[in-house]
Amino acid sequence: MSSTAQPFSHRVALVTGAAGNIGLACAERLAAMGADLALLDLNGEKLEQARASLSQHDVRITTHTCDVSDSEQVGSVADRVAAEMGQIDFLFNNAGYQGAFAPVQDYPADDFARVMNINVCGMFNVLQHVSRHMIARRFGRIVNTASMAGVQGPPNMAAYGASKFAVIGLTQVAAKDLAPYNIRVNAISPAFMGPGMMWDRQVTLQAEAGSQYFSRDPKEVARQMIDSVPMRRYGSIEEIPGVVAFLLGDDSSYMTGVNLPISGGI
Ligand code: NAD
Repeated sequence: MSSTAQPFSHRVALVTGAAGNIGLACAERLAAMGADLALLDLNGEKLEQARASLSQHDVRITTHTCDVSDSEQVGSVADRVAAEMGQIDFLFNNAGYQGAFAPVQDYPADDFARVMNINVCGMFNVLQHVSRHMIARRFGRIVNTASMAGVQGPPNMAAYGASKFAVIGLTQVAAKDLAPYNIRVNAISPAFMGPGMMWDRQVTLQAEAGSQYFSRDPKEVARQMIDSVPMRRYGSIEEIPGVVAFLLGDDSSYMTGVNLPISGGI
């Protein structure tokens, strides 16, 4: 394929949450654009399935079972990827956990800490260790996965909402700190994406949590959520990789510290 068709050839992309829906869809797009991949996820079994599903692409792929909330583990994975693959050009910092659904007064404190540990501390750990390698080469492009829950706090999602507001804040700070090293840092904020486990889970759990905002009937909750979207549909996972590729690529060369909603207009 020509270099126009593969604008990311000779680039190395580290993707976290790579065994999940959004991570794998984006990894697939980056491989199709020619990037070598370092795939990181907590779930080693699903990670190997992800690698197998990407095997038709003629790129190098390494897998790393790792807990992003463990700074030491993340540091050794980043060092290994940089040593084995020669560099890390792109980071899709995407691993995340949705947490429980309950009003703030009843929200389980242990789950709040778990969500913060994965979504905020985990994202920070990956950003910190990977950016050190990028600084050494004076080149890097980073996309953090936030959420529209980090723009407009949804009911019953105290931990997730707070964590994604923090991701957007971290993105803005990191964009400033890393700009002198030719490293751009942006975020994406998907809203309602479906179909799939995350959509079903949030519809069911919002109905169970009970609030003045949503019905007790999951089918009705699904309709209420869709009705809140100007485009009157949920987004497809396939509508995310193009935005990530845009933020990693040269077409966004004057953008840093930005959070791009992928939300149907919410
Ligand atoms: P998913 O559950 O399919 O994927 C998340 C992946 O992260 C999983 O493979 C999981 O194993 C991994 N992970 C969780 N904790 C980890 C840890 N401690 N260390 C390493 N890996 C870990 O979900 P998804 O829909 O693909 O979500 C990806 C990102 O998108 C998340 O940050 C999520 O908050 C965000 N998001 C999703 C939606 C949506 O509707 N799907 C909307 C907005 C934002």
